[in-house]
Amino acid sequence: MIPRVSLAILPTPIESMPHLSGHLRGPQLFIKRDDMTGLATGGNKTRKLEFLLAEAIAQKADLLITAGAIQSNHCRQVAAAAARYGLGCILVLTGKPPELPEGNFLLDHLLGAKIVFSSLEDRDRQLINVFEAQQSTGYKPYLIPYGGSNAIGGLAYADAFEEMLCQGMCPDWIVFASSSGGTQAGMVVGAKRSEFSGSVLGISVDAPEKALKDVVVPLVKQISERMGEKIGVSYDEVLVNDHYIGAGYGMMGEPEIEAIQLFARFEGIILDPVYTGRAAAGLIDLIRKGTFKNSDKVLFWHTGGLPALFAEKYQQRLTQQV
Ligand SMILES: *Cc1c(COP(=O)(O)O)cnc(C)c1O
Repeated sequence: MIPRVSLAILPTPIESMPHLSGHLRGPQLFIKRDDMTGLATGGNKTRKLEFLLAEAIAQKADLLITAGAIQSNHCRQVAAAAARYGLGCILVLTGKPPELPEGNFLLDHLLGAKIVFSSLEDRDRQLINVFEAQQSTGYKPYLIPYGGSNAIGGLAYADAFEEMLCQGMCPDWIVFASSSGGTQAGMVVGAKRSEFSGSVLGISVDAPEKALKDVVVPLVKQISERMGEKIGVSYDEVLVNDHYIGAGYGMMGEPEIEAIQLFARFEGIILDPVYTGRAAAGLIDLIRKGTFKNSDKVLFWHTGGLPALFAEKYQQRLTQQV
């Protein structure tokens, strides 16, 4: 048994989206609600943290350190996990201190995290500085990688894939937002182990296809080794679509606004402006292009991100009609 703590409410529900399917005249759409994992508004990092926290606690760590963007969902979930387990938390956030404590950044504060700002270029150096400074004052810090995407965090999505199969869901396609690669690598391991015949398609949120595959392919091997297995994948077997990056990370455009509005109005489901809005925009475009058969079952895997909607940067534009 791989050590694991309990943080998430599992299994997350799977729901059908008949009204959105009808509106798009598309395949049978389903959604896996990892926005409902429950930890301080939930998201995909909660699953990863069940495994990462187990290692931190086994190492007798008393402080979690990680890094991300100001509106990082990952950092917010790390802060919440630290609070649950009575650990300290330092977040290295890239960018300027925001004028208003909004969205995830507000929650980071409420959850008691200590925040250090850094430029993107300086981030890795800052992380090491913070880590060493805390060590020298007697803490036992545990460093959680960007997005929680290493072999330990990635295990969670091999497990989540199995959870989906146990719920009786065997889709032809799984579509989701992919960024630091852990979610996708874990799902690929899960798919391989179960000889899944469908397609696992990551919509890249920020990285070009090749760069994301450079992360996912080796991670698949490392995750499977942790499980005591040896699973390899070729670049061709990992499906990444990088056509929806638009103006770049965190830059919400009309496709994301439309996707957020459609999911909300047809299914009462809230997406986020950075990840799931972008992945859903990709899904909608692929449906319109006729990528899927009408008889296909397509599962959109919701990975969370709700609080970012409440950052001023996005609020205003989301009310515009597209
Ligand atoms: C982090 C995140 C992702 C991407 O997951 P990775 O494992 O980093 O690829 C997708 N959606 C949301 C809401 C996230 O916070």
